[in-house]
Amino acid sequence: MSFKVLFEPGKCQGYANCLIEAPEIWDFDDDNDQALLKIEDPDPALRQKAEASARCCPAQAIRIAETS
Ligand code: SF4
Repeated sequence: MSFKVLFEPGKCQGYANCLIEAPEIWDFDDDNDQALLKIEDPDPALRQKAEASARCCPAQAIRIAETS
């Protein structure tokens, strides 16, 4: 099933856990000390990694939403 990654940059505190869990989806902006969402609608094969990045974000800045 397709999904979307929802990111709230205002909540991000720069822990970079998301990047460690899913480097295919996330990048890091060193200047602003904040995560950068590279792919909003990743391939379904990346679902587990995307969910892990959401789970591991201490700031709860990441959510996964189903798309049809
Ligand atoms: S894990 Fe959360 S707080 Fe940390 S960089 Fe990623 S989005 Fe930001």
